[in-house]
Amino acid sequence: MNALARCKNCGGDEGVHHYKTMACPVGGREAPVGKKQEYKTTTFEVAIAAPQNVEDIIKKYLIDKLDISIRREGYNDELISVSILFDGDEIASDRLEVHR
Ligand SMILES: [Zn+2]
Repeated sequence: MNALARCKNCGGDEGVHHYKTMACPVGGREAPVGKKQEYKTTTFEVAIAAPQNVEDIIKKYLIDKLDISIRREGYNDELISVSILFDGDEIASDRLEVHR
């Protein structure tokens, strides 16, 4: 199975569709362990194949959209604060302690 063979209707891989009817799983993925798998009325349809250079396209998109800032904090600059914004909203932040 081609890893890029995704469903146009639910976004899931071909393998997560109902084995007989090819119905789309709810949410485009397998139900979590212990939950009953539910299906939608749509069925698997191959989405337009992603271009080979999709990773480069995504990287360029992220570089354009991400605003990564690195700031020193603490008495002796021993903490480095890193935050990542995406279109103005913070999506990640962390603080690193610098050992000298
Ligand atoms: Zn589907």
